[in-house]
Amino acid sequence: MSRSQITRGARLTQADIAADRSVDARLDAGRPANDGIASARKGSARSDNDQRDDDDCPILHIDMDAFFASCELRSRPDLVGKPVIVGGDGSRGVVTAATYEARRFGIHSAMPMSRAKRLCPQVVVLPPNFALYSEVSAGVMAIFRDVTPLVEPLSLDEAFLDVSGARRRLGPPAVIAEMIRSRVYDEQAITCSVGVASTKFIAKLASTRAKPDGLLVVPADRVVAFLHPLAVGALWGVGDKTEEALQRLGLATVGDVANTPVDTLVRALGQSSGTHLAALAWGRDPRSVQVPEGEKSVGAEETFPRDIDDPEVIRRELLRLSERVAVRLRRQGYVGRTVVLKVRFADFTTITRSRTLRSATDVSHEIYATVRELYEALGLQRARLRLVGVRAEGLLAAADAPRQLLLDEPVAGWREAEQAVDRATARFGRGSVQPARLIDSGVDDGFGGAPVAPRPR
Ligand SMILES: [Mg+2]
Repeated sequence: MSRSQITRGARLTQADIAADRSVDARLDAGRPANDGIASARKGSARSDNDQRDDDDCPILHIDMDAFFASCELRSRPDLVGKPVIVGGDGSRGVVTAATYEARRFGIHSAMPMSRAKRLCPQVVVLPPNFALYSEVSAGVMAIFRDVTPLVEPLSLDEAFLDVSGARRRLGPPAVIAEMIRSRVYDEQAITCSVGVASTKFIAKLASTRAKPDGLLVVPADRVVAFLHPLAVGALWGVGDKTEEALQRLGLATVGDVANTPVDTLVRALGQSSGTHLAALAWGRDPRSVQVPEGEKSVGAEETFPRDIDDPEVIRRELLRLSERVAVRLRRQGYVGRTVVLKVRFADFTTITRSRTLRSATDVSHEIYATVRELYEALGLQRARLRLVGVRAEGLLAAADAPRQLLLDEPVAGWREAEQAVDRATARFGRGSVQPARLIDSGVDDGFGGAPVAPRPR
């Protein structure tokens, strides 16, 4: 991750993007021209009828750049800008990840280590540290789930998101994509590339084209222009054998495949592959973003501008995050059964603590009470914290989870009160109604200010 790459992928503020500027200018800055990208970029300019180009592009494919290598470079700034590979260094070792500087020598993943070293004798080889990669991955996925519960992870460093439901809250998909890129960089100190499109297939192709540290929007009406010049290998599911079969038919580009009768494709490749490729060649991909069973969660977290060691400030932040989680749950129509507290220390060590409630909730008062107990139980004294997070997991549709009214629990209408706040917020704007504790940091109104007594479970 060189300085120039970071500059090239310069982060934009919401205001920058909201200002009526074409996405093109930013994408083109400092990037070599490439037909596929150039045409798609052209298409990402605003159209005349004042429709946003990314209106019909709710699918994001997000992929970390040279993930394992980037994770390693966080603690080895001396290696930034140098050819670095991660992998086994023994006689049978293979490359698991390579920085873009190493790729310039022709090195790529799955290559035998001996070959990589011949291609670039000065390359630095680091052993893999999978615990580190899992930890960074969890942080990245938490950022995604902060945006939408509709996250489909494909591997540690890659996921599809459907941001349809997040627009009203966060803005159009391209704005959401830039916000995610900024957060990943700010919180995890690595870069990622994002493809924004109307289908998973095109979003994935777009993120590959945008690499490294880039964003590419392919509006629905530009899909064919983006897709048809690409080599047939770009089509999902085309391996070496299929590629050979297509070449025997004289089909080199996706456009060639698109303009071949389906019958011909079916005869050459079989019924299912033939019809599948014919659909993909026109950008048709009906697959929706699939959230793995049991992985739905809604969370919010905050990285402090500077490390914080004041428990009062941290409690206040946990209250604010609990509110955000509850509001999101209610807006998305979910209740969560498990409440998770996340704490990252100044040295990046991260811990999580969770508790499963007797009945699922979307009430910030209950989420905060739980997270507060989890926080107090850590006994952190004045440890310096970099980040705190609150998450609700084990989500159920609120409609399917009637609230159990327990005799030993003061129900006292918290949920109704918070729903009233939702309505006031919808009418008068964010922050129009909030706990007094969040308005004046010096005053403790008793909303969670006193230690919370453990509730019987
Ligand atoms: Mg990757």
